Amino acid sequence: MSDGYAGYRSRLVEALQLKGIRDMAVLRAVATVPRHLFVPKELEARAYDDAALPIGAGQTISQPYVQARSCELLELTGRERVLEIGTGSGYQTALLAMLAEMVFSVERIPELARRAHEALKATGITNVSVMHGDGTLGWKPNAPYDGIVVAAASPGIPKPLVEQLTPGGRLVIPVARGDGDVQVLTLVRRHDSGSGFDETPISDVRFVPLLGEFGYAPRES
Ligand code: SAH
Repeated sequence: MSDGYAGYRSRLVEALQLKGIRDMAVLRAVATVPRHLFVPKELEARAYDDAALPIGAGQTISQPYVQARSCELLELTGRERVLEIGTGSGYQTALLAMLAEMVFSVERIPELARRAHEALKATGITNVSVMHGDGTLGWKPNAPYDGIVVAAASPGIPKPLVEQLTPGGRLVIPVARGDGDVQVLTLVRRHDSGSGFDETPISDVRFVPLLGEFGYAPRES
C-alpha cells in the first residue's frame, strides 16, 4: 500500500519478529493493514509504535505484539470462520480478515462498532461482519467458529464461547489472575472429539475489562 506509511509498517514487522512472532501470514498482515486508519487522527504518528493507544470511550487499541500473538495462536490457514469479541478500533478485525475466510466481530459500545465498521470499509475489507452487542454470549447464528479471540480481560472462560467452537477449534482469551489488573493470555483448545477442552497459559497481559453476562458486571453510569 503506497500511503507513506509502508516504511513504518516494515519497522513494526521487524520489531514483532524480534519479539518472537514467526507466522509469515501474520507478519504479512501487519505489513499490509494501514494501522493509522484505526487510531484517532491526533495519534496517527504513533500508529506504528508497538504500544497500546487510547481510541475513545475509555477503551484502547491493543499493543500490536499482543494482537499479532493472539492471531498467531489461532494457527489460521485462510479457510476459517473466526469470532472476535471486542472490536474496538477494528484493527485486529482487519488482521484476522487477512488470515481467515470470514470474521464476525462483536463490540458492546455502539459508537466504537460504528467507527470500526467505517474504518474497515475504508480499508476495502469485505469479509467481516461487525455487530453491536454482548460478546460474552458469542454470536450464535453464525456459530460454530474455528477460532475465537477475546480482546478484553475476562474473569473466567465464558461458557457460550467454548460451546461455539468447532471440535479442534481454538479460543484465545486474557483470563484474570485474581491479583490486580494483570491477566494470563490463555489458549483454550476444544478437543477433536468435541467433548472437553484444554488450557495453555501463554503470557501475562493487561486488557480493559470484558463487561457482560459472562464477564464482569457493567457499573451503573
Ligand atoms: N481489538 C481491539 C481491542 C479494543 S479494547 C483493538 O485492538 O482495537 C477491548 C474492547 O472490548 C473495547 O472496545 C470494549 O468496549 C470491548 N468489550 C468489552 N466487553 C465487551 C463485551 N462483552 N462484548 C463485546 N465487546 C466488549
